[in-house]
Amino acid sequence: MEIVESFKAQLQAYHQNSIAKIPAANTLINHTMILKKNRLNKFGYSLLLNIKQHENVGNYKTENWGNDKYQIAHYQDPVFLTRTFYKNGKSIFKKSGEKRLYLFIDDIIDKDFNENDYINCPNCGFAESISAIRDGCQYCGTHFEMSDVYPSISNYYFAYEYRSANKTDTKADKRKSNLLVWKKFLSSLLEVPYEIYKMRTGGLKSKPFFNRLMKQYNLNIPYFQFKDKCTEMLTAVLFSDSPDNLPFVNIPNCPAISPDLLDFDSTGFAIDKETSGVSGDIATMNTTFFIDGYFDKNGKIKNTKATYKASFRRNVYVPFNLNFSFTRINCKSCAGVFDAVRNDCCPYCNTKYELQNEEWILTDIKRIR
Ligand SMILES: [Zn+2]
Ligand SMILES: [Zn+2]
Repeated sequence: MEIVESFKAQLQAYHQNSIAKIPAANTLINHTMILKKNRLNKFGYSLLLNIKQHENVGNYKTENWGNDKYQIAHYQDPVFLTRTFYKNGKSIFKKSGEKRLYLFIDDIIDKDFNENDYINCPNCGFAESISAIRDGCQYCGTHFEMSDVYPSISNYYFAYEYRSANKTDTKADKRKSNLLVWKKFLSSLLEVPYEIYKMRTGGLKSKPFFNRLMKQYNLNIPYFQFKDKCTEMLTAVLFSDSPDNLPFVNIPNCPAISPDLLDFDSTGFAIDKETSGVSGDIATMNTTFFIDGYFDKNGKIKNTKATYKASFRRNVYVPFNLNFSFTRINCKSCAGVFDAVRNDCCPYCNTKYELQNEEWILTDIKRIR
Protein backbone atom coordinates (compact mmCIF):
# COMPACT_ATOMS: atom_id res chain seq x y z
CA MET A 1 0.00 0.00 0.00
CA GLU A 2 1.39 3.34 -1.08
CA ILE A 3 0.59 5.25 2.10
CA VAL A 4 2.27 2.55 4.25
CA GLU A 5 5.44 2.65 2.17
CA SER A 6 5.53 6.47 2.29
CA PHE A 7 4.96 6.40 6.03
CA LYS A 8 7.83 3.96 6.67
CA ALA A 9 10.20 6.00 4.50
CA GLN A 10 9.17 9.22 6.25
CA LEU A 11 9.52 7.65 9.70
CA GLN A 12 13.14 6.77 8.89
CA ALA A 13 13.83 10.19 7.35
CA TYR A 14 12.31 11.92 10.39
CA HIS A 15 14.68 10.09 12.72
CA GLN A 16 17.59 11.04 10.43
CA ASN A 17 16.54 14.69 10.83
CA SER A 18 16.16 14.99 7.07
CA ILE A 19 12.49 15.96 7.38
CA ALA A 20 10.87 18.04 10.13
CA LYS A 21 7.53 16.22 10.18
CA ILE A 22 5.83 13.12 8.86
CA PRO A 23 3.37 14.24 6.18
CA ALA A 24 1.73 10.79 5.85
CA ALA A 25 0.79 10.85 9.55
CA ASN A 26 -1.80 12.92 11.37
CA THR A 27 -1.20 15.80 13.78
CA LEU A 28 -1.31 13.68 16.93
CA ILE A 29 1.42 11.28 15.71
CA ASN A 30 3.54 14.27 14.75
CA HIS A 31 3.01 15.74 18.19
CA THR A 32 4.10 12.46 19.82
CA MET A 33 7.16 12.33 17.53
CA ILE A 34 8.23 15.73 18.87
CA LEU A 35 7.85 14.48 22.47
CA LYS A 36 9.97 11.44 21.63
CA LYS A 37 12.66 13.51 19.91
CA ASN A 38 12.76 15.92 22.88
CA ARG A 39 13.24 12.96 25.18
CA LEU A 40 16.15 11.61 23.11
CA ASN A 41 17.71 15.10 22.92
CA LYS A 42 17.39 15.59 26.67
CA PHE A 43 19.75 12.65 27.23
CA GLY A 44 21.96 13.53 24.25
CA TYR A 45 20.93 10.61 22.05
CA SER A 46 19.83 10.27 18.49
CA LEU A 47 18.09 7.20 17.15
CA LEU A 48 18.05 5.77 13.66
CA LEU A 49 15.46 3.28 12.46
CA ASN A 50 15.97 0.90 9.61
CA ILE A 51 12.68 -0.67 8.53
CA LYS A 52 12.85 -3.53 6.04
CA GLN A 53 10.03 -5.64 4.69
CA HIS A 54 10.11 -9.04 6.36
CA GLU A 55 10.75 -11.64 3.68
CA ASN A 56 9.49 -14.71 5.57
CA VAL A 57 5.86 -13.71 5.76
CA GLY A 58 3.34 -11.92 3.62
CA ASN A 59 1.11 -9.09 4.75
CA TYR A 60 -1.30 -9.82 7.54
CA LYS A 61 -5.02 -9.51 7.31
CA THR A 62 -6.34 -6.00 7.21
CA GLU A 63 -9.52 -5.21 9.09
CA ASN A 64 -11.70 -2.36 7.93
CA TRP A 65 -14.56 -0.65 9.49
CA GLY A 66 -16.43 2.53 8.85
CA ASN A 67 -19.58 3.98 7.39
CA ASP A 68 -20.53 5.22 3.94
CA LYS A 69 -18.10 8.09 4.30
CA TYR A 70 -15.17 7.36 6.56
CA GLN A 71 -13.18 4.20 6.59
CA ILE A 72 -10.47 3.10 8.98
CA ALA A 73 -8.20 0.27 7.92
CA HIS A 74 -6.31 -1.59 10.59
CA TYR A 75 -3.20 -2.75 8.83
CA GLN A 76 -0.39 -4.99 10.00
CA ASP A 77 2.93 -5.02 8.25
CA PRO A 78 5.62 -7.63 8.97
CA VAL A 79 8.95 -5.81 9.20
CA PHE A 80 12.54 -6.33 10.21
CA LEU A 81 13.46 -3.36 12.39
CA THR A 82 16.93 -2.21 13.39
CA ARG A 83 17.30 0.50 16.02
CA THR A 84 20.67 2.21 16.41
CA PHE A 85 21.20 4.69 19.21
CA TYR A 86 23.93 7.30 18.79
CA LYS A 87 25.70 9.51 21.28
CA ASN A 88 28.17 12.22 20.23
CA GLY A 89 27.94 10.86 16.68
CA LYS A 90 29.02 7.37 17.74
CA SER A 91 26.83 4.29 17.55
CA ILE A 92 26.46 2.97 21.11
CA PHE A 93 23.61 0.46 20.93
CA LYS A 94 22.10 -1.59 18.13
CA LYS A 95 19.33 -4.15 18.10
CA SER A 96 17.43 -5.85 15.28
CA GLY A 97 14.40 -8.06 15.20
CA GLU A 98 11.21 -9.16 13.52
CA LYS A 99 8.38 -6.82 14.42
CA ARG A 100 4.85 -6.27 13.43
CA LEU A 101 4.08 -2.69 12.47
CA TYR A 102 0.48 -1.85 13.39
CA LEU A 103 -1.11 1.00 11.49
CA PHE A 104 -4.44 2.75 11.31
CA ILE A 105 -5.17 4.28 7.94
CA ASP A 106 -7.97 6.86 7.89
CA ASP A 107 -9.61 7.42 4.54
CA ILE A 108 -12.71 8.87 2.99
CA ILE A 109 -14.72 6.66 0.66
CA ASP A 110 -17.14 9.18 -0.68
CA LYS A 111 -15.08 11.91 -2.32
CA ASP A 112 -18.32 13.93 -2.38
CA PHE A 113 -17.75 14.95 1.26
CA ASN A 114 -19.81 17.17 3.49
CA GLU A 115 -18.69 20.79 3.21
CA ASN A 116 -19.41 21.33 6.91
CA ASP A 117 -17.10 18.55 8.09
CA TYR A 118 -13.87 19.59 9.73
CA ILE A 119 -10.39 18.52 8.75
CA ASN A 120 -6.89 19.49 9.89
CA CYS A 121 -4.57 21.56 7.72
CA PRO A 122 -1.77 19.16 6.65
CA ASN A 123 0.76 21.95 7.16
CA CYS A 124 -0.08 23.48 10.55
CA GLY A 125 -2.82 21.21 11.91
CA PHE A 126 -5.39 24.01 12.25
CA ALA A 127 -8.93 22.60 12.37
CA GLU A 128 -11.31 24.10 9.84
CA SER A 129 -14.32 23.23 7.74
CA ILE A 130 -13.89 21.79 4.26
CA SER A 131 -15.76 24.73 2.73
CA ALA A 132 -13.41 27.20 4.45
CA ILE A 133 -10.18 25.68 3.13
CA ARG A 134 -11.04 26.39 -0.50
CA ASP A 135 -9.21 29.72 -0.08
CA GLY A 136 -6.33 28.19 1.85
CA CYS A 137 -5.80 27.49 5.54
CA GLN A 138 -7.09 30.37 7.69
CA TYR A 139 -4.17 29.98 10.05
CA CYS A 140 -1.08 29.48 7.86
CA GLY A 141 -2.46 30.23 4.39
CA THR A 142 -1.38 26.92 2.86
CA HIS A 143 -3.44 25.73 -0.10
CA PHE A 144 -4.13 22.03 -0.10
CA GLU A 145 -6.33 19.37 -1.65
CA MET A 146 -8.32 16.66 0.09
CA SER A 147 -5.80 14.17 -1.33
CA ASP A 148 -3.18 15.85 0.89
CA VAL A 149 -5.30 15.07 3.94
CA TYR A 150 -6.55 11.53 3.12
CA PRO A 151 -5.50 8.79 3.38
CA SER A 152 -3.61 9.49 6.59
CA ILE A 153 -1.88 7.30 9.18
CA SER A 154 -3.67 7.99 12.45
CA ASN A 155 -1.91 5.48 14.67
CA TYR A 156 1.20 3.31 14.54
CA TYR A 157 3.34 1.20 16.80
CA PHE A 158 5.81 -1.64 16.61
CA ALA A 159 4.92 -4.87 18.37
CA TYR A 160 6.86 -7.93 19.27
CA GLU A 161 6.32 -10.63 16.62
CA TYR A 162 4.74 -13.83 17.95
CA ARG A 163 3.49 -15.49 14.82
CA SER A 164 5.13 -16.27 11.53
CA ALA A 165 2.72 -18.72 9.90
CA ASN A 166 0.47 -17.33 7.21
CA LYS A 167 -2.69 -19.30 6.51
CA THR A 168 -2.36 -18.96 2.75
CA ASP A 169 1.21 -20.29 2.63
CA THR A 170 2.11 -23.40 0.64
CA LYS A 171 2.99 -26.65 2.45
CA ALA A 172 6.71 -26.03 2.17
CA ASP A 173 6.29 -22.49 3.44
CA LYS A 174 4.20 -23.81 6.29
CA ARG A 175 6.86 -26.33 7.34
CA LYS A 176 9.44 -23.60 7.21
CA SER A 177 7.29 -21.18 9.18
CA ASN A 178 6.26 -23.85 11.72
CA LEU A 179 9.94 -24.38 12.37
CA LEU A 180 10.31 -20.64 12.69
CA VAL A 181 7.43 -20.45 15.16
CA TRP A 182 9.11 -23.11 17.32
CA LYS A 183 12.43 -21.38 17.09
CA LYS A 184 10.79 -18.12 18.03
CA PHE A 185 8.89 -19.78 20.86
CA LEU A 186 12.06 -21.25 22.32
CA SER A 187 14.01 -18.02 22.00
CA SER A 188 11.07 -16.10 23.41
CA LEU A 189 11.17 -18.27 26.53
CA LEU A 190 14.58 -16.84 27.11
CA GLU A 191 13.82 -13.35 25.99
CA VAL A 192 10.23 -12.59 26.96
CA PRO A 193 8.97 -12.99 30.49
CA TYR A 194 6.28 -15.51 31.29
CA GLU A 195 3.81 -12.71 32.04
CA ILE A 196 3.53 -11.97 28.37
CA TYR A 197 2.34 -15.48 27.64
CA LYS A 198 -0.09 -15.17 30.50
CA MET A 199 -1.19 -11.79 29.21
CA ARG A 200 -1.54 -13.16 25.71
CA THR A 201 -4.22 -15.45 27.08
CA GLY A 202 -5.57 -12.56 29.13
CA GLY A 203 -5.44 -10.48 25.96
CA LEU A 204 -7.50 -13.05 24.11
CA LYS A 205 -10.13 -12.97 26.86
CA SER A 206 -10.20 -9.18 26.77
CA LYS A 207 -11.64 -9.10 23.28
CA PRO A 208 -14.93 -11.00 23.90
CA PHE A 209 -15.32 -9.17 27.22
CA PHE A 210 -14.93 -5.77 25.59
CA ASN A 211 -17.08 -6.54 22.55
CA ARG A 212 -19.91 -7.98 24.67
CA LEU A 213 -19.92 -4.93 26.92
CA MET A 214 -19.89 -2.42 24.05
CA LYS A 215 -22.70 -4.28 22.29
CA GLN A 216 -24.92 -3.88 25.37
CA TYR A 217 -24.69 -0.12 24.81
CA ASN A 218 -24.97 -0.34 21.01
CA LEU A 219 -21.46 1.01 20.64
CA ASN A 220 -19.86 -0.07 17.41
CA ILE A 221 -16.28 0.00 18.70
CA PRO A 222 -14.22 -3.04 17.74
CA TYR A 223 -11.71 -4.25 20.32
CA PHE A 224 -8.70 -3.62 18.07
CA GLN A 225 -9.76 0.02 17.77
CA PHE A 226 -9.87 0.37 21.55
CA LYS A 227 -6.58 -1.45 22.03
CA ASP A 228 -4.76 0.57 19.40
CA LYS A 229 -6.27 3.89 20.56
CA CYS A 230 -5.05 3.11 24.08
CA THR A 231 -1.60 2.25 22.75
CA GLU A 232 -1.54 5.56 20.87
CA MET A 233 -2.46 7.49 24.02
CA LEU A 234 0.00 5.57 26.19
CA THR A 235 2.80 6.24 23.70
CA ALA A 236 2.25 10.00 23.94
CA VAL A 237 1.99 9.78 27.75
CA LEU A 238 5.19 7.75 28.16
CA PHE A 239 7.24 10.19 26.05
CA SER A 240 5.77 13.25 27.73
CA ASP A 241 7.47 15.08 30.60
CA SER A 242 4.14 16.67 31.60
CA PRO A 243 1.40 14.23 30.57
CA ASP A 244 -1.43 16.36 32.01
CA ASN A 245 -0.87 18.75 29.07
CA LEU A 246 -2.17 16.06 26.72
CA PRO A 247 -5.87 16.48 25.87
CA PHE A 248 -6.87 12.90 26.71
CA VAL A 249 -5.10 12.81 30.08
CA ASN A 250 -7.42 13.57 32.97
CA ILE A 251 -4.93 13.26 35.84
CA PRO A 252 -4.19 16.62 37.50
CA ASN A 253 -0.44 17.23 38.07
CA CYS A 254 0.41 13.90 36.46
CA PRO A 255 4.21 13.50 36.67
CA ALA A 256 6.31 11.95 33.89
CA ILE A 257 5.59 8.21 34.09
CA SER A 258 8.83 6.95 32.58
CA PRO A 259 11.09 9.99 32.29
CA ASP A 260 14.04 7.91 31.04
CA LEU A 261 12.17 5.95 28.32
CA LEU A 262 13.59 6.55 24.82
CA ASP A 263 11.71 4.08 22.62
CA PHE A 264 9.78 0.82 22.90
CA ASP A 265 7.92 -2.03 21.25
CA SER A 266 4.53 -3.03 22.54
CA THR A 267 4.53 -6.61 23.87
CA GLY A 268 1.05 -7.00 25.33
CA PHE A 269 -2.21 -5.35 26.30
CA ALA A 270 -5.10 -6.72 28.35
CA ILE A 271 -8.23 -5.60 30.16
CA ASP A 272 -8.72 -6.61 33.78
CA LYS A 273 -12.21 -8.09 33.57
CA GLU A 274 -12.69 -8.23 37.33
CA THR A 275 -12.39 -4.48 37.88
CA SER A 276 -13.60 -3.10 34.52
CA GLY A 277 -17.19 -2.31 33.63
CA VAL A 278 -19.88 0.35 33.34
CA SER A 279 -21.17 2.47 36.19
CA GLY A 280 -23.86 5.03 35.37
CA ASP A 281 -22.95 6.53 31.99
CA ILE A 282 -19.24 5.80 32.23
CA ALA A 283 -17.29 2.72 31.19
CA THR A 284 -14.02 2.23 33.03
CA MET A 285 -11.45 -0.11 31.51
CA ASN A 286 -8.53 -1.05 33.73
CA THR A 287 -5.75 -2.27 31.49
CA THR A 288 -2.23 -3.63 31.67
CA PHE A 289 0.29 -2.57 29.07
CA PHE A 290 3.60 -4.36 28.48
CA ILE A 291 6.57 -2.95 26.65
CA ASP A 292 10.06 -3.93 25.62
CA GLY A 293 11.68 -0.60 26.38
CA TYR A 294 14.91 1.26 25.67
CA PHE A 295 15.78 3.39 28.69
CA ASP A 296 18.62 5.73 29.57
CA LYS A 297 20.63 4.41 32.44
CA ASN A 298 23.53 6.68 33.44
CA GLY A 299 24.29 7.63 29.86
CA LYS A 300 23.92 4.10 28.49
CA ILE A 301 21.03 2.33 26.79
CA LYS A 302 19.27 -0.27 28.88
CA ASN A 303 16.94 -2.60 26.99
CA THR A 304 14.42 -4.00 29.47
CA LYS A 305 10.76 -4.95 29.92
CA ALA A 306 8.32 -2.69 31.73
CA THR A 307 4.69 -3.00 32.77
CA TYR A 308 2.10 -0.26 33.27
CA LYS A 309 -1.42 -0.18 34.66
CA ALA A 310 -3.69 2.34 32.99
CA SER A 311 -7.38 3.19 33.35
CA PHE A 312 -9.50 4.56 30.52
CA ARG A 313 -12.98 6.07 30.65
CA ARG A 314 -15.68 6.89 28.16
CA ASN A 315 -19.36 7.77 28.18
CA VAL A 316 -21.17 4.70 26.82
CA TYR A 317 -24.21 6.68 25.69
CA VAL A 318 -22.28 8.79 23.19
CA PRO A 319 -22.16 7.05 19.81
CA PHE A 320 -18.81 6.35 18.23
CA ASN A 321 -17.73 9.04 15.75
CA LEU A 322 -15.41 7.85 12.99
CA ASN A 323 -14.31 11.35 12.16
CA PHE A 324 -13.39 12.10 15.77
CA SER A 325 -9.93 13.44 16.35
CA PHE A 326 -8.30 15.10 19.35
CA THR A 327 -7.11 17.67 16.84
CA ARG A 328 -10.61 18.86 15.92
CA ILE A 329 -12.83 19.01 18.98
CA ASN A 330 -16.30 20.47 18.81
CA CYS A 331 -16.90 22.92 21.64
CA LYS A 332 -20.28 22.07 23.21
CA SER A 333 -20.69 25.62 24.42
CA CYS A 334 -19.94 27.81 21.37
CA ALA A 335 -19.71 25.17 18.58
CA GLY A 336 -16.20 26.33 17.77
CA VAL A 337 -13.82 23.66 16.46
CA PHE A 338 -10.26 23.54 17.73
CA ASP A 339 -7.17 21.41 18.21
CA ALA A 340 -7.21 19.99 21.74
CA VAL A 341 -3.58 18.88 21.50
CA ARG A 342 -2.60 22.56 21.65
CA ASN A 343 -5.43 24.04 23.71
CA ASP A 344 -6.49 23.23 27.27
CA CYS A 345 -9.80 25.06 26.83
CA CYS A 346 -11.83 26.17 23.85
CA PRO A 347 -9.84 29.16 22.45
CA TYR A 348 -13.08 30.93 21.43
CA CYS A 349 -15.12 30.85 24.63
CA ASN A 350 -12.64 29.41 27.16
CA THR A 351 -14.91 26.49 28.13
CA LYS A 352 -13.13 23.42 29.49
CA TYR A 353 -14.04 20.42 27.35
CA GLU A 354 -15.14 17.02 28.60
CA LEU A 355 -13.43 14.57 26.31
CA GLN A 356 -14.80 11.50 28.06
CA ASN A 357 -18.11 12.35 26.39
CA GLU A 358 -16.47 11.85 23.02
CA GLU A 359 -13.59 9.42 23.26
CA TRP A 360 -11.61 7.31 25.69
CA ILE A 361 -9.57 9.34 28.14
CA LEU A 362 -6.83 8.27 30.50
CA THR A 363 -7.73 8.64 34.18
CA ASP A 364 -4.92 6.75 35.87
CA ILE A 365 -1.50 5.34 35.00
CA LYS A 366 1.43 3.92 36.90
CA ARG A 367 4.44 1.77 36.20
CA ILE A 368 4.22 -1.44 38.19
CA ARG A 369 7.36 -3.22 37.05
ZN1 LIG B 1 -2.49 25.64 8.11
ZN1 LIG C 1 -16.16 27.28 22.85
